[in-house]
Amino acid sequence: MIDDRMNILSGLTGAIGNTPLIRIDSLSEETGCNILGKAEFMNPGGSVKDRAALWMVQAAEQTGELKPGGTVVEGTAGNTGIGLVHVCNDRGYNTIIYTPDNQSQEKIDLLRTLGAEVRVVPTVPYKDDMNFQKQAGRYAETLDNAVWANQFDNTANRMAHYESTGPEIWRQTDGRVDAFTCAVGTGGTLAGVARYLKEQSAEVKIYLTDPLGSALYNWVKTGEAEMTPGPSITEGIGNSRVTENLQGTSIDDALQVPDQNMVDMVYRMLEKDGWFFGSSTGINLCGAVEIARELGPGHTIVTVLCDDGSKYMSRLFNPKFLAEKGLTART
Ligand code: PMP
Repeated sequence: MIDDRMNILSGLTGAIGNTPLIRIDSLSEETGCNILGKAEFMNPGGSVKDRAALWMVQAAEQTGELKPGGTVVEGTAGNTGIGLVHVCNDRGYNTIIYTPDNQSQEKIDLLRTLGAEVRVVPTVPYKDDMNFQKQAGRYAETLDNAVWANQFDNTANRMAHYESTGPEIWRQTDGRVDAFTCAVGTGGTLAGVARYLKEQSAEVKIYLTDPLGSALYNWVKTGEAEMTPGPSITEGIGNSRVTENLQGTSIDDALQVPDQNMVDMVYRMLEKDGWFFGSSTGINLCGAVEIARELGPGHTIVTVLCDDGSKYMSRLFNPKFLAEKGLTART
């Protein structure tokens, strides 16, 4: 029998969260600050989205919308889908994923390998009725015992980070955190962590670090969600609208990171520090370094190591792809 005195995690759910907080040595030494990354790539599904997936499924169970043998439908191209399939497999639910047809075949193959039914639909803007997220929502309504996870506007996503990521960061730093930053896709991570940390201390500064081709930098700076010129090769981050998850969050400032800086950061992390990170992590670390420079030596800045580089082999880690986008892999 397993009891509380043993140091054993209970199944997949028990293995989500409680990730290490890792000091990024080279960046910390260079800036004289502690640059710390929450190691979300160590979740069972390999990303920060496992937490959101678990909380959204649990919320639907609690309201009774999702009953044994039910189905979770979501519009996603990436990590949320992966997280949902892991959680749904563990709890006996089916997973149906709508994804736009501009996504890499590797991602679609991975979701199918994990056990999702994947429906690839034409890539059209959010305002179009045939947008993949809207199709997911409509399809869920036609099924019995099914829910649309709706990660952008379902605040169970934010709650995951308010109840787990935020408190973990506060405990792991013993309350000595000067600033937190990350990029925003749904906003669940930034909003949940920001809300928790600000409640502990109003002194903690929250920065939104945005890639190009997103409206959130302008939203923080001016209150208008106006798109900046893109595009960006980053995946899973940037948004043209302010989601329910992001709405009402106290954010002190925003930063903008061009793709070349992100590429330089991920290659540098790999070659000099040994870390293999994805593109959103590159954006986050660039943001953290900029904040360190702004605040000066002696501060502690926390960010998120969202996922690792293995899903980005054909893009971020493919010099030919980078060259086509006017980017170079240099360190
Ligand atoms: N990084 C990656 C790799 C992601 O998949 C996502 C989720 N879309 C994010 C960052 C952004 O997280 P959030 O949705 O909580 O804003």
